[in-house]
Amino acid sequence: MEHFDLIIVGAGLSGIGAAYHLKEKCPGKTFAILEGRDAIGGTWDLFRYPGIRSDSDMHTLGYAFKPWREAKAIADGPSIRRYVNETARENGIVEHIRFKHLVRNASWDSATARWTVESEHAERGERTSISCNFLFMCGGYYRYDRGYTPEFPGRETFQGTILHPQFWPEDFDCSGKRVIVIGSGATAMTLVPAMAEQAEHVTMLQRSPTYVVSRSDQDRIANTLRKWLPEKVAYAITRWKNVTLQKFFYNRTRVAPEKVKQQLLKMVSKALGEDYVKQHFTPDYNPWDQRLCLIPNEDLYQAIRSGKASVVTDEIEQFTPTGIRLKSGAELTADVIVTATGLELTVLSGVEFEVDGAAVNFPDTWAYKGMMYSDLPNMVQTFGYINASWTLRADLTCEYVCRLINRMDELGMRQCTPRLRPEDAGMQARPWIDDFSAGYMQRVMHLFPKQGDRDPWRNTQNYALDKKLIRNAPLEDGALQFTNPVTEDVPQPAEAERRQADAA
Ligand SMILES: Cc1cc2nc3c(=O)[nH]c(=O)nc-3n(C[C@H](O)[C@H](O)[C@H](O)COP(=O)(O)OP(=O)(O)OC[C@H]3O[C@@H](n4cnc5c(N)ncnc54)[C@H](O)[C@@H]3O)c2cc1C
Repeated sequence: MEHFDLIIVGAGLSGIGAAYHLKEKCPGKTFAILEGRDAIGGTWDLFRYPGIRSDSDMHTLGYAFKPWREAKAIADGPSIRRYVNETARENGIVEHIRFKHLVRNASWDSATARWTVESEHAERGERTSISCNFLFMCGGYYRYDRGYTPEFPGRETFQGTILHPQFWPEDFDCSGKRVIVIGSGATAMTLVPAMAEQAEHVTMLQRSPTYVVSRSDQDRIANTLRKWLPEKVAYAITRWKNVTLQKFFYNRTRVAPEKVKQQLLKMVSKALGEDYVKQHFTPDYNPWDQRLCLIPNEDLYQAIRSGKASVVTDEIEQFTPTGIRLKSGAELTADVIVTATGLELTVLSGVEFEVDGAAVNFPDTWAYKGMMYSDLPNMVQTFGYINASWTLRADLTCEYVCRLINRMDELGMRQCTPRLRPEDAGMQARPWIDDFSAGYMQRVMHLFPKQGDRDPWRNTQNYALDKKLIRNAPLEDGALQFTNPVTEDVPQPAEAERRQADAA
């Protein structure tokens, strides 16, 4: 069987970043990237709906090691796709990718300290097995084969077109059409102004309001710094600025939620008037209890003010041949209905895991630093932030993996496994992500690993804390155990410690 030191699953932002870090910090290691699709970029290649863009700034959504060069900090999907592809090309990563290899199973064998990773060819369906010492899961957090769509009664009676943003037809033209976009998340907020440019009218139909903040899509400070300073220095300063501001703002939402709420609502009121804001932009939760929506240059407000778009806050009773009947009794007519109802989250990219022949049930496992799982050897997953840019955590995770692999080599150990310590017995379980009430998370939290109430079993979703826990904390913390297969003539931990002491 073909064998690599590492297998990375996924060639999106995270997988390409992982390969870069490996090449830089573990240059002797062999690796392959298994990617289920036939393209690089993940999210930024898959989503093609009108207006697709980031809703965090590219100075923190971009990699720490590759400055974002474009003037727009809130960038469109194609620019981000180009950036990820460029990273892969510039760093000789493309040749490591095996496209159309959808990973289905991963089985760990303690006797040989190896993973066997089985993937299915996306077209031919044939299965291939490759083994590796270490598995780095970078497959994102949602299903690629379907989005989340609730059951809408009467859906089949609607005589127009129904679209889901995850599967946007390439040549779809909404000119002169009446459109309803169901949803009030980032995707709906992006689609509404973008479609309003061509459509006769776009209605954003939401069950409940979301917090919205408008910002210029360009970061003036970043663009000025770039003129005067070396590119990397300017990028680092902007990144630091944005991380600091985001942290400050997020902390304020935790300690003074009511004040922040009033400030946010005041800003929207200035753009749309108090009555409109009371009706459609005043959520019944606190800011950042669910994801906050960032819009560039007031584009959504402008579309509403121009009369090309409007917001309706109501519940759907049923689809009708001509549109949607609402619980209030009102009827909306449409030629096109877009179900911007979200993603379907998945645990570890839907891969079935086994350790020594026993299936792994992730809800039974404890998250170690939000990256590894109790009793699963040599496996790390990248899972970014829901309250900050994904890549901040992806970069930290990659640094950790490289540090860990190099340390295992130094120790002469082939397995590292997080295990509960005696003092962790009876630890209180908390959801994988807590303090975040968004429906798309709540629907699936019972399928995810749990986190504990103490380090290193917490998944903090806090960049400052993660820097301490992931970047600076010692690798040998008593919970992460370094061992060798017992059946082989190789040193066990005590022996390795003796060798270390001798070497010192
Ligand atoms: C519309 C949209 C907008 C977003 N905007 C932002 C934003 O502004 N800021 C932010 O921080 N985050 C945002 N996110 C979250 C976003 O997913 C992350 O920013 C980031 O792109 C995740 O990168 P990733 O590589 O970890 O995962 P993905 O982009 O999901 O890429 C995963 C890759 O792994 C592959 N894969 C998955 N499973 C398997 C398998 N079993 N076998 C083989 N290959 C597999 C996929 O095909 C894909 O190529 C957004 C998400 C969406 C959907």
